[in-house]
Amino acid sequence: MFELDKMIRSNILQLKAYSSARNEFTGTNGIFLDANENPYGKWNRYPDPYQRGLKREITKAIGIQPKNTFIGNGSDEVIDLLFRVFCNPSTDKVLTFSPTYSMYDVSAGINDIELIKVPLNESFDIDLEAVQSHLSDSKLKLILICSPNNPTGNCPDFEKVERIIKTFKGIVLIDEAYINFSEKQSFTCLIEKYPNLVVSQTMSKAWGLAAARIGMAFANSNIIDLLNKVKPPYNISGLNQKAAIEAFEMGEEFLKRKEQILVNKAKLLTNLKNTDVVTKIYPSDSNFFLVECKDADKVYNTLVKKKIIVRNRNNVIKNCIRITVGNADENQLLIEALESI
Ligand SMILES: *Cc1c(COP(=O)(O)O)cnc(C)c1O
Repeated sequence: MFELDKMIRSNILQLKAYSSARNEFTGTNGIFLDANENPYGKWNRYPDPYQRGLKREITKAIGIQPKNTFIGNGSDEVIDLLFRVFCNPSTDKVLTFSPTYSMYDVSAGINDIELIKVPLNESFDIDLEAVQSHLSDSKLKLILICSPNNPTGNCPDFEKVERIIKTFKGIVLIDEAYINFSEKQSFTCLIEKYPNLVVSQTMSKAWGLAAARIGMAFANSNIIDLLNKVKPPYNISGLNQKAAIEAFEMGEEFLKRKEQILVNKAKLLTNLKNTDVVTKIYPSDSNFFLVECKDADKVYNTLVKKKIIVRNRNNVIKNCIRITVGNADENQLLIEALESI
C-alpha cells in the first residue's frame, strides 16, 4: 500500500512553509501596505503565489480542478521539486527508462540522487521484467516516465505504465510535455485513482509559450500541497501568469496552430520517407521525429552549414537525429537540404 507520509523526506514533513503577505491577506480590495511594495508603477505588486486566475483557465481548458493543480516555473521545476520533496540526497534512488529526457539526469545530479536507467526495448517500449526487481528497493522513491518520450517520440504502452503505478510504493511522474500532439490517452484520468501519481504537462510545446516557463503538475491534493510548501513563494511571475492566461483565452487560435503543426508533420513524414539519406523514421506521438540516417554526424554538420539546426542524437541512439516539425517553408527547406546530401 502507498503511504504518502512515509515517502516524504522528514525535513520536508516537518518544514513550516514560508507565509508571504499575500498568503496572510488574500483579498483584492484595500490599501496594501503589507508587502513593502512600491506604490507606483504597472508591475509593482507581487503576483498571486497560487496563480488562482491561471488555474481557473486550466480547469476550463484541461478539466482539472485547482486543488489538483500545481504550476511550476517550467516542468523542470516540477521535476526538481519532486526530487527535493521525496528523495534524501546521497541516499535515495530514482528510476527512469532510457533513452529519455536528459534533464532527469541533471536534476538527479544536482540533488545527489542515483538515477537508475532501465533500457527501453527495441520498439522503445517499457520492459516490465527489467524493472520488476527494482520496484521493491526501499531506497527507490521516484519513477520518471516520459510519455510521449523524448527523444524517441512514442508513448510507452498504457497498461504497462499503469501496472507500474499500481505496484510501486513510491511516486510515479508521467511527463506529458507532448501529450497534446498525441491521440493517446493522457494519464490525468488516473490522478483520482492513484494517490502516488503525478502527471506533468507544459505550455512550452503545443501551447506555444516556451518563453513564459509554465509547467503544470496534476495530482491528488496532498501531493499538490507538498509542492506548494516547497516552491519559492512567487515562482511564477506576474508577466508570465498574464501571458499564460492570454494563451488560454485564445484557445481556438492555439488549437488551429496545433492542427497546422499536425498537418505539417504528416507532410514532413511523407517527404522524409522519400529522401535517400534517411534510413528509418520512428513512429511519433509528438511534434518531432527521431530519424535514423546513414551518417548522422555528416547529416547534422551539412544541415548546420545551411543554417538548419536539428538535434544530433548520434551519441544517444546510433546515427539518429531528432527533427522538430516546423512551418511549411522550414520543412520544405529541410527536405531540399537533405536531398542535396
Ligand atoms: C520540452 C520538454 C519539457 C518542457 O519543459 P519546460 O520546463 O516546461 O519548458 C518537459 N519534458 C520533456 C520531456 C520535454 O521534452
